[in-house]
Amino acid sequence: MMQSLVIGNWKMNGSLSANEVLLDQLLPALIDLKGVQIVLCPPFPYISQADSRLLGSQILLGAQNLNAQESGAHTGEVSARMLKDLNCRYVLIGHSERRSLYGETDTDTAQKLIAAKLAGLIPVLCVGESLQERQSGSTETVVARQLQAVIDSLGIETLKGCVIAYEPVWAIGTGETATPEQAQAVHGFIRRLLARQSAAIAERLPLLYGGSVKADNAAALLAQADINGALVGGASLDAAAFAAICQAA
Ligand code: 13P
Repeated sequence: MMQSLVIGNWKMNGSLSANEVLLDQLLPALIDLKGVQIVLCPPFPYISQADSRLLGSQILLGAQNLNAQESGAHTGEVSARMLKDLNCRYVLIGHSERRSLYGETDTDTAQKLIAAKLAGLIPVLCVGESLQERQSGSTETVVARQLQAVIDSLGIETLKGCVIAYEPVWAIGTGETATPEQAQAVHGFIRRLLARQSAAIAERLPLLYGGSVKADNAAALLAQADINGALVGGASLDAAAFAAICQAA
């Protein structure tokens, strides 16, 4: 059995004082939780604040994005090595908001993924279809394209030690969750697609579901055979809700 993984993506939310309150409430609720790895991804400026507060706990740190370049004249950007330096262990790659709002392509995603790996970070590669793509029946085509772009550019072996998150865009921040069956269908498809290229990698790759995961739907989603954890947005800003999701995992 793979250990469950629950990642809280705070997105562009928080402040020094609000984070303090959230972590004060969250840490006691999660301290004794066994069998689940919990990761928090605060905005860049608050990574060190969270790191200090998480010291001595089992909760790990992640970041929401990176720039694939090593260093240099890239005003406003943050490199993989900087994230590693700040004690991040995970980093989200190709989140749908990065793709849709900031024009990130499948090629950018591949470059970021390899930069993360080279720096010793665990990439969490996000894939998922829009509402229009689902309605037109192209969910599998879109997810396969997003995954295959990375595999074709870097090789299947690169996915060893990575995490994949399936986040249907229509379920993100909308309150509309994929049903456990809908989510499992895509997770199963991803697992089979990877298994055709490397059974060993496919078997061990954690597949997270994201998109309106809440305290009341987490258990049913996480009970699915190919759902190994959750990538949580909105509910990760609510200590009670996030703790309940982690407990369900
Ligand atoms: P919500 O949980 O707010 O739908 O966000 C999901 C997400 O995008 C996590 O990365």
